[in-house]
Amino acid sequence: MSVQEKIEALRLELRQHNHNYYVLDNATISDYEFDVKLKELQDLEEQHPEFYDANSPTLRVGGQITKNFNTVVHEHRMYSLDNSYSQEDLMDWEKRIEKILGDSNVEFTCELKYDGASISLTYEEGQLVRAVTRGDGFQGDEVTTNIKTIKSVPLQLHGDFPAKFDIRGEIVLPFDGFHKMNEERIANGEDPYMNPRNTASGSLKLQDSALVAQRPLECLLYGVVGENTGITSQFQMLEKAREWGFKVPTVAKLCKSVAEVMAFVAHWDVHRHQLPYETDGVVVKVNLLRHQEELGYTAKSPRWAMAYKFKAEQVTTVLNEITYQVGRTGAITPVANLEPVLLAGTTVKRASLHNADQIEKLDIREGDTVFVEKGGEIIPKIVGVNRDLRPQDSEVTQYITECPECHTPLVRSAGDAKHFCPNEYGCPPQITGKIQHFISRKAMDIDGLGSETVELLFKEGLVTNYADLYALSVEQILPLERMAEKSAVNLVQGVAKSVEVPFERVLFALGIRFVGETVAKKLAKAYKNIDALMYASALELATVDEIGERIATSVVDFFQNETNLESINRLKSYGLQFELSADKLLNQTEKLKGQTFVVSGVFEMSRDDLKKMIEDNGGKVGSSISSKTAFLVAGDKMGPSKRTKAENLKVPIITEQEFLDSLT
Ligand code: AMP
Ligand code: ZN
Repeated sequence: MSVQEKIEALRLELRQHNHNYYVLDNATISDYEFDVKLKELQDLEEQHPEFYDANSPTLRVGGQITKNFNTVVHEHRMYSLDNSYSQEDLMDWEKRIEKILGDSNVEFTCELKYDGASISLTYEEGQLVRAVTRGDGFQGDEVTTNIKTIKSVPLQLHGDFPAKFDIRGEIVLPFDGFHKMNEERIANGEDPYMNPRNTASGSLKLQDSALVAQRPLECLLYGVVGENTGITSQFQMLEKAREWGFKVPTVAKLCKSVAEVMAFVAHWDVHRHQLPYETDGVVVKVNLLRHQEELGYTAKSPRWAMAYKFKAEQVTTVLNEITYQVGRTGAITPVANLEPVLLAGTTVKRASLHNADQIEKLDIREGDTVFVEKGGEIIPKIVGVNRDLRPQDSEVTQYITECPECHTPLVRSAGDAKHFCPNEYGCPPQITGKIQHFISRKAMDIDGLGSETVELLFKEGLVTNYADLYALSVEQILPLERMAEKSAVNLVQGVAKSVEVPFERVLFALGIRFVGETVAKKLAKAYKNIDALMYASALELATVDEIGERIATSVVDFFQNETNLESINRLKSYGLQFELSADKLLNQTEKLKGQTFVVSGVFEMSRDDLKKMIEDNGGKVGSSISSKTAFLVAGDKMGPSKRTKAENLKVPIITEQEFLDSLT
């Protein structure tokens, strides 16, 4: 088999596995085997850029950066939908269209209305060539690079697809993935996202496609537009698109009357809560395309389609008590403890009240009968109070002024919606929260120690700070409740072993506000050791790539605190890594600082090594040539378009040897 054949065979195979897994929900290979094959393809493609394919499965991992999204005019406008809220609305609509069509037997296709971000995908010769957001319906932003990272979007179609067409759909973020993302954000001390829809649409506009690739987005399709598609009805369209490789939900029904449509609506109004993603209604479409053409469009929507909006499910229940939670960062969240009630398929006992303003605005009081709703947000919320049922002796809610855990007076700074407990180092949930973050998987990843044990250790007075973990002995922890000898030994060994964890993760573990995993890596790379970082001013910090003022100030504040400095000194004495390891430091210089390189073609050394060399010497590797590119390092078989672009923008083109010479 030639290299080219090998590359093509791998692409075909990986495409099929992607399709089985992401579209059919039916994996036929283990994740590990998949990764091995993907790596093999990546290596071959890297060694043979002449076989580049813009739709190779390797591009799913992302990495390309889009600085500015191009505006693209939609070849076919993306319309809105008219809304209806009752059977009467739908029956009126049915009458109107039957009159226009002069036909009293119009059929309808019912689909769910997925709640995400609309997208239009253009395919030519079975290849994805463009993905554009809806924008204002006439023109949107081109987000192709980001869309390619969504695994259920086919990059290459199969079957009898039309030569050129657009397909419309919705990018959604399933609940599961949304929850996971939020857990991570909370672990990083960041605010959780409010709802999946906004998170999905925000994802499409991220500049770094590698970040998009990490988000578990899905693309659900519902409409093909184009000339000569050979399609005659909406229902057939869904079946065809599915055959070509698109993810088209199977929840769709062909109905002969509005009565049948209402049965579909009634069923899904209840069962939609079991779906993995958010839906907010049903879209009813006239089935035959020739009917659709005859009906045409109003100024903003098709006459042949109608959205039926589900009502956000609402129940009433009694609010028994308002309690207050203290988070790891000291933020106070008021919580409504409710008389348990069934809502959207789950029993609800608690609802978030967000903050003091929210309570005041709705005048929510203990003992009130409240309206609880589950909308796009995952956590149920209180949307109002039934004043008629308010008890005689009801009292206006007085927001707490002291921390419920440590009784320190709360503070609320200008611009902050939340109150905070400022007793960072003396407030129990803040203390244990910091230690729990310190030991978590992406931080120190300490084997044999879990969140509950941290609370136990704290309660028993054995740890009040993460540095205390390193002073624990088996004898001290053995007497603890439910602590077997083996667990005690494991715990102490796990802690001891963590001194090998590399600097960037130690930095993340310290729990500096706004310093998540990625920021920690950036800081570690820029400053190389904790002492240099400690003495950096906010101004200096803000010059590091992607470090803004908010992070810079937080870092400076952290290192100005005596308790933190003492903890760090103790951690140093226990042998934790406070500088980049020798192999990471090897051959690092600042020679290329401030310069961006683009590398293209085949080189003597591997392309990864070349990129590493640029970064080790302080330079940046860019993915496409722009006027900001300092040099294009050209290897063998570099594409002619790159050369032309570099020449046009007057970006100097250098060889591998010239690059190496520049470093000596
Ligand atoms: P609206 O934004 O309320 O005018 O509703 C129109 C939007 O509904 C479209 O832009 C689509 O993004 C979205 N939508 C979700 N599911 C469907 C579906 N099955 N058929 C048509 N549009 C849908
Ligand atoms: Zn407190």
